Amino acid sequence: MENVVIIGSGCAGWTAALYTARANLQPLLLTGHQPGGLLTTTSIVENFPGFPEGVDGFELMTRMQKQAERFGAKSQFGLVEAVDFSGKPFVLTVDGEKVEAETVIIATGASHKHLGVPGEELLETKGVTYCATCDGALPLFRNQPLVVVGGGDSACEEALYLTRFGSTVHLVHRRDSLRASKIMADRTLANPKIKPVWDSAVTEIVDVKQDRVTGVKLKNLKTDVESTLPCAGVFIAIGHGPNTEIFKGQIETDPNGFIIPRRGTMTNVPGVFVAGDCADHIYRQAITAAGAGCAAAIDAERFLSAANH
Ligand SMILES: Cc1cc2nc3c(=O)[nH]c(=O)nc-3n(C[C@H](O)[C@H](O)[C@H](O)COP(=O)(O)OP(=O)(O)OC[C@H]3O[C@@H](n4cnc5c(N)ncnc54)[C@H](O)[C@@H]3O)c2cc1C
Repeated sequence: MENVVIIGSGCAGWTAALYTARANLQPLLLTGHQPGGLLTTTSIVENFPGFPEGVDGFELMTRMQKQAERFGAKSQFGLVEAVDFSGKPFVLTVDGEKVEAETVIIATGASHKHLGVPGEELLETKGVTYCATCDGALPLFRNQPLVVVGGGDSACEEALYLTRFGSTVHLVHRRDSLRASKIMADRTLANPKIKPVWDSAVTEIVDVKQDRVTGVKLKNLKTDVESTLPCAGVFIAIGHGPNTEIFKGQIETDPNGFIIPRRGTMTNVPGVFVAGDCADHIYRQAITAAGAGCAAAIDAERFLSAANH
């Protein structure tokens, strides 16, 4: 039986692995289908402390892994398909195999929705992004026209944040009014730098040939008229949800599926802890996920010490 099994290999997971490894618990980390987590999908991370020149997301995650392994953390490529937290030991099904654990740290992160239009995937990190806090300050977006896609609170937050950097922020939404809360919608529409583009859908992001974003193709959903809107960046904010399906019915979540920690990082099941974006719909940053991974590791270590004495 494992002392600690960590589900997920993002900033939260590897930080939890580092701390539990240094506490001599030989943690087992299960990577999931995205080893290194979301940060591996971005090129430059400029806001992780300790890297004044910025650091490549993939390199940062490789370094976190090496650091944890140096102290004895083990890892296994595999997807947790099911969990049974009803008794002790906890049982996880990983690619058909059973893994038993005395404690579990859930660090499965969250996923954003994609538009699914031509150009989106090929231009990711070249002007297409899903996080204004992460990327808004990058030089390629400064004093340039930008596009935010979406009409909810997140899209409004992204648009407002981007007014600090962009020359104009076009907010493209499928309807003729925002879905966001009234206060957020009013604040957004009152900002002179934000120009709403109503009743419109992005049908393509260009220009793949130039290997950078130069604009979006739009279709007015009421008139079918097509147009091109020049921009240097497209910030997609059409939805974001935690990867917590496999814990349904066992771990307490909010209505959107984000895990609710009770005491520190402990969930409603004693011995099961949570860290990172799967429990955080507010901050969603590498450093906050890493901090939560540290806290979950300390909580798990103290739980094991108390249980074994
Ligand atoms: C394009 C982009 C750029 C970003 N840039 C920045 C930035 O510059 N600065 C910053 O601070 N933040 C940035 N972020 C946000 C940052 O990436 C996240 O806040 C951070 O990765 C969250 O870490 P996490 O460990 O909670 O989850 P994640 O990094 O999402 O990792 C989740 C892990 O869980 C695993 N997993 C999921 N389900 C299972 C399962 N069933 N079984 C096993 N494993 C599973 C996945 O494989 C993955 O390894 C960016 C995000 C994106 C998308």
